[in-house]
Amino acid sequence: MNMQEYIQEAEETLLHTYNRYQVVLDRGEGVYLYDTDGIKYLDFASGIGVFALGYNNQEYNRALKGQIDKLLHTSNYYYNVPAVRAAKKLTAASGMDRVFFTNSGAEAIEGALKAARKYAYRRDGSADHEIIAMNHSFHGRTFGALSVTGNPKYREPFEPMIGNIRFADLNDIESVKKQITEKTCAVLLEPVQGEGGIIPAEEDFLKEVRRICQERDILLILDEIQCGMGRTGHLYAWQRYGVKPDILTTAKALGCGVPVGAFLMTEKVAAASLEAGDHGTTYGGNPFVCTAVEKVLDLFQENHIIEHVGEVAPYLENCLDALKEKYDCILERRGVGLMQGLVFDRPVKDIIDRALEEGLILINAGENVIRFLPPLIVSRANIDEMADILESCIEPDEER
Ligand SMILES: *Cc1c(COP(=O)(O)O)cnc(C)c1O
Repeated sequence: MNMQEYIQEAEETLLHTYNRYQVVLDRGEGVYLYDTDGIKYLDFASGIGVFALGYNNQEYNRALKGQIDKLLHTSNYYYNVPAVRAAKKLTAASGMDRVFFTNSGAEAIEGALKAARKYAYRRDGSADHEIIAMNHSFHGRTFGALSVTGNPKYREPFEPMIGNIRFADLNDIESVKKQITEKTCAVLLEPVQGEGGIIPAEEDFLKEVRRICQERDILLILDEIQCGMGRTGHLYAWQRYGVKPDILTTAKALGCGVPVGAFLMTEKVAAASLEAGDHGTTYGGNPFVCTAVEKVLDLFQENHIIEHVGEVAPYLENCLDALKEKYDCILERRGVGLMQGLVFDRPVKDIIDRALEEGLILINAGENVIRFLPPLIVSRANIDEMADILESCIEPDEER
C-alpha cells in the first residue's frame, strides 16, 4: 500500500481521537525518521520527548532483544532481575528512595495522587483531603490525571472529575497560598509545563512552595514526565532547581520507546502511605520494560547525555533567539535545556504543516507555541538544519 492508502485505512479503523499529520512513519535512524515512501525527516519532537537516545540505537536494541529471548513478563507477584536493577539505578540517579513502575505517565500520576491521599489518611485517620494543581498544567487522560489537568476544555465533557482538586497559577505564590486549607494533602506541578506552552517554574516560586509544604506537612509532587530524563540538562529538573519533591513522576524518555513510567517517593512518604494491597498493575515494571529503563540509564552515563545537553542547549537557544529577533510574528522564546518553545502571535499549525512538507517534524504546545523536543543526542549541525527549514516555512512578510 502507498502512504495515502495506509492513511485512509487508518481513518476507517482507528478511533478518531487525533487529527494526525498526513504521514505514515516507518523507521528511524538517529535524529531522522523515514516515512513509508522513503522520505526523510529531521525529528525535533522525538515522539513527544520519548526518543532521548535517538532512533535505532544498537546497544539499546541488543539489550531488548536479549530480554525477549529470556523472559518478557512475570506479574508483580514475583521478583524479576531487570526490575531490581532498574529500581536501584533509577532511585540512585533521581535521588528518591522507592519506586513503583507503571505503564504510562498518566498511571504514574494516578499512583502519586493515591499515595498523597493515603499519606494524609494515615496521618489524620480520615479521608476527604484536597490536592492543589496548576492552571495550564497537563497530567494525562485518565480520570485522576484529567482531574488535576488545568485545562477546562479537556475536563468538561467528562465531569464529574474526582473531587477536592483546587487550581492555582504557576509562578504566583499568593494564588497557591489562597488555595491551601486544613484539608490540603499535596501540591502537584510540572517544573517546566509542557503541553501548557513550555513555561518554566521560577526558582523562587518553587522554593517557596517547597517551604510552605514542609511547614504544613503537605506533599510536593513534581511531574517530570516531560521535563525529566535529562531534558533540562539535569537528569531531573528538581536537581537543577535544588527543590526536592516528596513524590516524583516520570515516563516518556524513561524507556526511550517502550511503555514505562514510574512514581518515586522518599522513604518518609513510602513508610507512611501505600501498603500491600493498596495499588497494583499487571504489566507495570515487567522484565522487558525494566531492561529498557536500565539500559537507558546506562547509556545516558556512557554517552554523557546530560553533559551533551548542557553543551548544545545554549546553541539551540541562540538559534531560536535569532529567529525571534528577525521575525515580528515571534513574540518570545522560553524553555529550559532541550525543552524550548517559540511563542507566535498567531496559530502555528500552518508553519508546522509546511515544515513537515519540507522534511522537519515539529509539534505545538497550545495553539500559538512551537515546541522543540529534539532527541537529546541532537548536534549543532542538526540544529542549524532545523533552523534553516523552519525559516523557510515562515512567510517572508512576517520579517521585521
Ligand atoms: C505526557 C505527559 C503526561 C501523560 O503521560 P502519558 O504517558 O501520555 O499518559 C503527564 N504529565 C506530563 C507533564 C506529560 O507531558
